Amino acid sequence: MTKNIAVIRGDGIGPEIVNQAIAVLEKVASLYGHTFNFTDVDMGGCAIDKWGDPLPQEMLEKCVKSDSVMLGAVGGDKWNGVPGEMRPEKGLLRLRAGMGVYSNNRPAKIWPQLSSASPLKQSIVDKGIDFIIVRELIGGIYFGEHKTDEKNGESQAIDILSYTESEIERIGRIGFETARKRSKRLCSVEKSNVLDSSRLWKKVMHRLSEEYPDVELSDMLVDNCAMQIVKNPAQFDVIVTENMFGDILSDEASMITGSIGMIPSSSLGDGSCGLYEPIHGSAPDIAGKDIANPIGTILSAAMMLRYSFGLENEAQAVENAVSKVLDMGCRTADIMPSDKGEAEKCRKISCSECGRLIVENIKKQ
Ligand code: NAD
Repeated sequence: MTKNIAVIRGDGIGPEIVNQAIAVLEKVASLYGHTFNFTDVDMGGCAIDKWGDPLPQEMLEKCVKSDSVMLGAVGGDKWNGVPGEMRPEKGLLRLRAGMGVYSNNRPAKIWPQLSSASPLKQSIVDKGIDFIIVRELIGGIYFGEHKTDEKNGESQAIDILSYTESEIERIGRIGFETARKRSKRLCSVEKSNVLDSSRLWKKVMHRLSEEYPDVELSDMLVDNCAMQIVKNPAQFDVIVTENMFGDILSDEASMITGSIGMIPSSSLGDGSCGLYEPIHGSAPDIAGKDIANPIGTILSAAMMLRYSFGLENEAQAVENAVSKVLDMGCRTADIMPSDKGEAEKCRKISCSECGRLIVENIKKQ
C-alpha cells in the first residue's frame, strides 16, 4: 500500500513528538511492505514566523490532497500578542474546517501498567476507565462569530454559539455508530437547562435514537458529567457532545488516565482522509528538553493506520509495542509514579528513547 501523509510538526514539543511517530510509521512500512511518503506542512506559530499566516492556503491544500494528516501541536507564548484571526490556534481551526473533519474521537483508557499514575483513588480506578468521547469539531462556539467592541463606555466581547439540526445529526450518528460497535450505551452531554443550542441537540439525539433501537441513549448535563467523570468513570462507554464541552471534558478524562501525554485522537469527516493528533497542546514549558511523552502521538499514528488506511494488524502491532515498553517499566517523566517504591521499579526515559524503544518492539502480528 502507498499512502501520502502530510506532516505538521508545529510548535513547542510538536517536532520532538512527531519525529517519534514518523519513525514508528517508517518501521511499520518496512515490516509490512508499505510505502508512506511524508510531506512537510507549516502550520501554527512557525508558519506565522515564516509566512505571516498560521495556515497559508497552499499548506491547507497539501493537507486536503493527502491521504491523511499527522499533527503535533501548535501555539505558544511567543504568539500570544498576535490578533485573534492570526493566532496559531486559528490555523488549526481552519485546518479542521478545510478538511471537513467534524467528528473528533478521543479515547480515555487507562493502561493497566499506569493505574497508579491516575490521580483518582485506586478503588475508582479498579472499576475500569475505558470510554470514548465523540466530540463535534467544526461547529459551535469555536466557529461562531467573535468580536470585541465598546458598550456603554466599556469593552464587550461576544462569541456566538450556534448549531444547525444537520450538524447535530451527523455527529449524533457517529455517536450511535460508535456505541453500536462497543457496549451499545451512548450518553449525550449538553446544557439543555440553559442553552437553546443544547435543547436542539437533545431533541435531535432523541429523534435519531428511534433509528438505533439497539443503543440505549441517556442524557447528562455537562456540569454533572464533569463531576461524574471523576466520581464514577466506569459508568461511561461512549459520550457524544458538542465542540467546547468535548474539548474540556476530554482534557479532564485524559488526566484521570494518568497523563495528557498518553491520549491520541482521530478527526474524520465523510471521507477516509483524517487528521491525527495527540489531545495535548505544544507544552512550551518542556519544549526542546527531550522529556515530552510521545505516546499520545504514536497512538494517533496507530489510529491513522486503523481508521484511514484500514490496517488493523499494523495498528495493533504499534499498540502492542507501546504496551511492551510500559511493561518494561520505561516511563517518560509525566508518567513516572509519584510513590517512591513504585518509582524504583521504573526507569525514567527521554522522549527520543521512548520512541526508539517502541520502534524496536514493533513486531509483525
Ligand atoms: P498543554 O497541553 O500544552 O500543556 C498542559 C500541561 O501538560 C503542561 O504542563 C505540559 O508540560 C503537559 N504536557 C502536555 N503534553 C505533554 C506531553 N506529551 N508529555 C508530557 N507533558 C505534557 O496545554 P497549555 O499549556 O494550556 O497550552 C500550551 C499551548 O498549546 C497554548 O498555546 C495552547 O493554545 C496550545 N494548544 C494547542 C493545541 C493543539 O495544537 N491541538 C491543543 C491545546 C493547546
